[in-house]
Amino acid sequence: MAGEPQADCLFCKIVAGIIPATVVQETETTFAFRDINPQAPMHVLVIPRVHYPDAGSLAAAEPTIAADVLSVAAQIAADEKVDDYGYRIVFNTGTGAGQTVFHAHAHVLGGRGLEWPPG
Ligand code: 5GP
Ligand code: ZN
Repeated sequence: MAGEPQADCLFCKIVAGIIPATVVQETETTFAFRDINPQAPMHVLVIPRVHYPDAGSLAAAEPTIAADVLSVAAQIAADEKVDDYGYRIVFNTGTGAGQTVFHAHAHVLGGRGLEWPPG
């Protein structure tokens, strides 16, 4: 069924507590934790508890949960005090864009200057 946990998915295992993570915030629909290989002083991943392979498929199937991911991302940026300067929310989609984990996730990056356009 769409959205069901996938046995071979790293982020489903993190949501289930099978693989440990440094948890930042949990809600009924989302789970946020620090990236294991941070690309900025603040680098948090916000994921939906349900499994969809990318942000677009999540938004098409579960628009309210997609909005929850964005709200939590903004809330964490505020909590971590990177919102005044500015921060970035990134959804890599597809291998060519650098996606390596095929469970929808928002990267929330802040705490340093962020170049535009991104690489
Ligand atoms: P993507 O490359 O798919 O956009 O992002 C996947 C992210 O997951 C990467 O930034 C990578 O560092 C992070 N990541 C991969 N494995 C783990 C893990 O086991 N724990 C945590 N906390 N992050 C991970
Ligand atoms: Zn998953």
